[in-house]
Amino acid sequence: MIDSATIAKILETADIVEVIRDFVSLSKKGKDYKGLCPFHEDKNPSMSVSPSRGIYKCFSCGAAGNTVKFVMDHEHLTYPEALKYLAVKYNIEFTEKEETEEDKKLKTARESLEAVVLFATNFFVKNLNNTKEGKAIGLSYLFERSFSENTITKFALGYSPDQSTSFSEAAIHAGYKTEYLINSGLSILGKNNALFDRFAGRVIFPIHSISGKVIGFGGRTLKNDKAKYVNSPESELYHKSDILYGLFFAKKEISKQDKCFLVEGYTDVISMHQSGIQNVAASSGTSLTEGQIKKIKRFTKNITVLYDGDEAGIKASIRGIDLILEQDMNVKVLPMPAGEDPDSYAKSHSSTEFLNYIEQNEQDFVVFKTTLLLKSTKNDPIKRAEVIKDVVSTISIIPDKIMRSVYIKECATLLNIKEDVIYQDIKDRILSKNKLKNPYQQNKEPEKNQPTNQPQPETNLFDISFYELEKELITYLLRFGEKTVKLRLTGKLQETTILDYIHSELKNDDLILKNQIFKELFDLISETYTKNKFIDISEFTNSTNNEISASAINIISNPFTLSKIHNLPENRDFEEDLLPDSVPKTMLVYKIKIVVLLIEQIQKELKNAEAENNFDNVMKHLNTIQLLNNKKSELAKILGRIIL
Ligand code: ZN
Repeated sequence: MIDSATIAKILETADIVEVIRDFVSLSKKGKDYKGLCPFHEDKNPSMSVSPSRGIYKCFSCGAAGNTVKFVMDHEHLTYPEALKYLAVKYNIEFTEKEETEEDKKLKTARESLEAVVLFATNFFVKNLNNTKEGKAIGLSYLFERSFSENTITKFALGYSPDQSTSFSEAAIHAGYKTEYLINSGLSILGKNNALFDRFAGRVIFPIHSISGKVIGFGGRTLKNDKAKYVNSPESELYHKSDILYGLFFAKKEISKQDKCFLVEGYTDVISMHQSGIQNVAASSGTSLTEGQIKKIKRFTKNITVLYDGDEAGIKASIRGIDLILEQDMNVKVLPMPAGEDPDSYAKSHSSTEFLNYIEQNEQDFVVFKTTLLLKSTKNDPIKRAEVIKDVVSTISIIPDKIMRSVYIKECATLLNIKEDVIYQDIKDRILSKNKLKNPYQQNKEPEKNQPTNQPQPETNLFDISFYELEKELITYLLRFGEKTVKLRLTGKLQETTILDYIHSELKNDDLILKNQIFKELFDLISETYTKNKFIDISEFTNSTNNEISASAINIISNPFTLSKIHNLPENRDFEEDLLPDSVPKTMLVYKIKIVVLLIEQIQKELKNAEAENNFDNVMKHLNTIQLLNNKKSELAKILGRIIL
C-alpha cells in the first residue's frame, strides 16, 4: 500500500479535468466541463466534470466519483493501482508502506505457494509434451478434442503422471517444502507422513488469476472409475468463489465487446477461444457467486449465460441467475441446441455461425424464465400462482427502477395479470427487504412513512420519512456546515455555525441518525471539522468507502430543494437566506417525529404491562409517556415560533 501522506498528495495534485481529458474530450461550460460519458453509450455529452469539486458525474448513467474512481473504472484498476497510475502521471514519488511482521509472513506464505504452483505448472506442461506417457495419454486426448498446439500452450495445459508420488517427489527434490505442497493442495498427506499427488493420472487445466498468475488447477481423469474432475482446494492463493476460469484471457475482449459469455466447463471456454470467440469465461461447475459476478462487472454489465442440457437441468440452474440481476447486470440466456454444448458447437461451426446462433436465440432472462416456468403449469391455478410469485420475486431483485418497470410490463402480458398487481407485490417486497438489510438500499430508494406502522401525528407536516429529514440535515452540513448564521430559536436569534447547531442538538438529546450511511457521514463531518475547523468536501467525495463517497457526491451534485415540510412554493430554488428558519425547522420536525415514535413504542409496552398486571411497569411507562409528551409540546412550541 502507498502511505497516506502520498495518497493525500496524489489526490491534491491530480486535476480531474486533466485526468479525464486523457480519455474523453471535454468542453468548457460555465465553470464546469462537459463530455461524452465513457461508461455508457452516450450520444449527447451527459458527463459533467467539476474542477472546483474535483468530481465527475454522468447525468445519464449515474457514474460519478473523483480522479481515482475515474481511473479505476475506466482502466479497470484496483484502488492502489489507480493511485500508482496517478502518481506516475504527476511525477509523484511514492514509497510503499512499510510491512508489518504479519504482512511479511503472509506475503512469504503467498509467495511460497505461488512458487510451488508455478513449479507444478511447468512440471505438468513438460510431462504432457516431453514424456512418453504424457504424449500417449494426455496429448492424444487433447488432440482428439481438436485442441491445437497453440491453444494447449496458451492455456498451459499439462499432464500429471499416473504414479501416485511422481510430482511430490520431484517437488521435494527441487527443494519445495512439504508444508506448501500440502497447503497448495497439490500433495495430500497420507500414512507415515507420505505425500501423494492429488492430480495423478489427470490432464491438467491450470486456473489463472485475473492478472494471469496460475493459482490452482483442475484435473480431468481419462479413466472411468474416478471423479471426472478434481480441483485444487481452497488456499491462501485460490479462492474458488472469486475465480472465473478463462477471465484472464477474456477480459480485454469482454471489455471491447461489452459482453461476457458464461459457460460451464473448461473445455467450453477453450474451444470457444480457439474458434475466435474470446469474451467467454466459466464458473467451472460451481454455482455462480457474487464475487465472480463482481469480477465480470469490472469489464461489462452484459452477460449471456449459455446452457446445455434438458429443461429440467436448465430449471435447476436458473436459480443462480437472480444473483446476476441483483448486481444490476443485463442478463440473457441461450439454450444450446439439443445434444450440443458450447464445446461441441464451437468445433462444428465457425465463429460467425456461432455468433449468429447466439444473436438469433439469446433471450432476455426474465422473459425466458417466465415462459419456461409457465410451460409446466398447464392450467393448474396453484402452480400458476407459484410461477407468478417466483417471477415477481426475480423482478423485485433488479435494482434499476426503469428496468424493473419494463419487465413488469412484459411479464404482466406473459402471465396475463394486471401490472398493478405486480407493482404492489414488488413494493411490499422491497419495503420488507429494506427493513431487514442493506441501509444503502434505503439510501438509494427512500420509501415513505418509515416506520410503516406509525400513526399520523396532528398535521401532515410529519408526513415525511426519517430518511428525507436526515438527508436534509446532512445536506445542510455538507453545503453550509461552516457558515455562521443567526438561527431563529426560542424566540430570539442565536448566532452559530450550522455544524455547531446540528451537532449540539443531536448530542444533547443523545440522538444517532438512523440511516447508517448518514450516520457515518455525520461522524466523519464532525471529526474533520473538529480537527481542521473547516469542512473539506473532498474528504467525503474521496472516501474509500464507496457508499460514503457516492452519498456525498449525490448530495452535493444534485440541486438542493428543501423538503415539503418547509411549505415553499413548488420549484422555488433554495436560497441561503432561508437557512435561519429552515435548519431549526428540519431539526425540530426530526425530533418531534422521534418523540412520537418513542411514545408509540412505550404505549405498546404499557399495554403489555397492563395485560400482565405488572403495576410497577405500568407506572413506569405512564411516567415516561408523560415526560415524552412534555418534550413534544416543548418542541412544538419552538417550532410554532419559526416563521417559514
Ligand atoms: Zn454515463
